[in-house]
Amino acid sequence: MTISFAGQVAIVTGAGNGLGRSHALELAKRGAKVVVNDLGGARDGSGASSAASKEVVELIQAMGGEAISHGANVANFDEVQDMVQQTMDKWGRVDILINNAGILRDKSFSKMTLDDFKLVMDVHVMGSVNCTKAVWEIMKQQNYGRIVMTTSSSGMYGNFGQSNYGAAKMAVIGLMNTLVLEGAKNNIHINALAPTAGTRMTEDLMPEEIVKAFAPEAVTAGMLTLCDEAAPNRFILCAGAGGYSSASIFETDGCFIPTAKQSPEAVRENWPKLTAQDNQQALVSGAQQGEKFIMKAMAFMKSQ
Ligand code: NAD
Repeated sequence: MTISFAGQVAIVTGAGNGLGRSHALELAKRGAKVVVNDLGGARDGSGASSAASKEVVELIQAMGGEAISHGANVANFDEVQDMVQQTMDKWGRVDILINNAGILRDKSFSKMTLDDFKLVMDVHVMGSVNCTKAVWEIMKQQNYGRIVMTTSSSGMYGNFGQSNYGAAKMAVIGLMNTLVLEGAKNNIHINALAPTAGTRMTEDLMPEEIVKAFAPEAVTAGMLTLCDEAAPNRFILCAGAGGYSSASIFETDGCFIPTAKQSPEAVRENWPKLTAQDNQQALVSGAQQGEKFIMKAMAFMKSQ
């Protein structure tokens, strides 16, 4: 079945370049009215310009679609609120939020200043928090919302020189995990995208032919499955160069050590059991972990 966004309103942050641009264009092609947000700064977050976002709006309008641009810095809640207010004034709803805006300030942790750490956290984490907060009550009242967080393999698995970026990208998964619980009764689905694409963010990290193979459009094809009516919830989709996979956090079933025997030595002795992957589970709330441990303690007490 064709995936359509006709009649829906989407906000795409950082949509002047790279992945956000591709997301915005494809959402518009498939019928969405799109807010093309972009601060328009350099890759490290310095500067600002409205040229790129305006160009994307013109492209959408040229193909008969509807779009507006907004230069909100996602790290600034007042500017984000203004963007959402303008969206509501013009179109009266927000169905989709794609938290995509991002910057890089790579350096080994020894050389990284705390300012570089904080700025990256501000844009990726607080940017996603601010935009989500600004649309949350609207989506609740509509009883409909689709939100995509942009994470990264750097957050899930680590990458040399990206302690700030990796921490931020894992934080948005934490944000998703709790928001899926809070948004469920209002049909708000939140998913995460872990892209690899040849954009200005990665162009000097990959050879030219590889950059071409990692076209943003390939990622967008996957991203759109995370924000339509049939979207999953709490899914982490990895996408790049036509490859698509999913990532999850699993927890092993683990072991139980009774009070009288609890010691670091006993925990180490039980390592094979504690790490055994049979019966591992992808837990869906923090409370589930507590329940699992209590069940083990109760089973032990019953056996005495
Ligand atoms: P890009 O640099 O081409 O685009 C990012 C856009 O975000 C730019 O247009 C920039 O102006 C905008 N932006 C930056 N700070 C902003 C702010 N404070 N407010 C509003 N807009 C802002 O990068 P990209 O590769 O398209 O990255 C898009 C997203 O995907 C980012 O979150 C990035 O971390 C993530 N990502 C990209 C890759 C990749 O391989 N390209 C891999 C993993 C994750």
